[in-house]
Amino acid sequence: MSSENYLQVTDLTVKYGGLLAVNKFCMTVKQGEIVSLIGPNGAGKTTVLNLLTGFARPSGGRIDFRGRDVTGLPPAWIAANGIRRTFQQNSLMFDLTVGENIRAGLHTRVSTGLFASLFNSAAFREEDRTMRIAVDRVLDAVGMQAQRDVAARNLPFGDQRKLGIGIAIAAQPSLLLLDEPAAGLNPDESAQLTALICRLRQDGITIVLVEHDMRVVMGVSDRIVVLSRGEKLAEGTGPEISTNAEVLRAYLGDGSWAMPATVDSEHNQQEG
Ligand code: ATP
Repeated sequence: MSSENYLQVTDLTVKYGGLLAVNKFCMTVKQGEIVSLIGPNGAGKTTVLNLLTGFARPSGGRIDFRGRDVTGLPPAWIAANGIRRTFQQNSLMFDLTVGENIRAGLHTRVSTGLFASLFNSAAFREEDRTMRIAVDRVLDAVGMQAQRDVAARNLPFGDQRKLGIGIAIAAQPSLLLLDEPAAGLNPDESAQLTALICRLRQDGITIVLVEHDMRVVMGVSDRIVVLSRGEKLAEGTGPEISTNAEVLRAYLGDGSWAMPATVDSEHNQQEG
């Protein structure tokens, strides 16, 4: 496997009744890249993430990850083999603290049993120490050390989103799929999220981002893939996509397309 085809999606198709939610969709992600998947509401973006993570089964096509055919494999297998995702709705345990939520994200790595924990055995103490170190690593990565003991329900919305990402990276995935992480965030929180996504890439995680917030998309993406009505409409860099006439047409009427001020002002300067 070369880094060119770390994730390779070929002719991926899924039908729901008479609806072709995704139709012969192709996409390649290189190791270390951030690729954004954008498109109007109902374009099929979340469905692609569901297919990549085993939450939906394709009617046709193929998904290769790190040189292996993973098409149609169950979510648990895919997660255990390095692909993790976040969800549009926060899936936190709201009564637990930040640290406890992250610890729960690590639970698959616990191996000592109840007997060992009841008697506070050496094996249990060693595993507990390892878990604390792992939780610390995640808290550092998402910048939430100060909130370790805060209950998830008492966090501001932006921090709940960050915690969702923390839980997803706890198991050290090599590919992270983010489903609209900026939804509902204020501009400050979106800027923090943009910085966090860039840091995760620096830490070696390859990222596929589904997002409507164009400021975040333009701030992090190496490449952007545009979906419309289940089909790939365009692919390119931020500047290529933001000036693509077909893309702009697809978004008219959807109302969700808002270029970041920096891109708008560049255009204005060119026109002026
Ligand atoms: P949004 O930006 O609004 O989240 P999206 O691009 O993520 O939209 P999807 O949620 O992937 O779009 O939906 C694509 C299409 O597939 C929509 O028409 C949706 O109603 C349909 N769809 C998705 N999942 C199912 C399902 N399980 N059963 C039937 N139809 C579905």
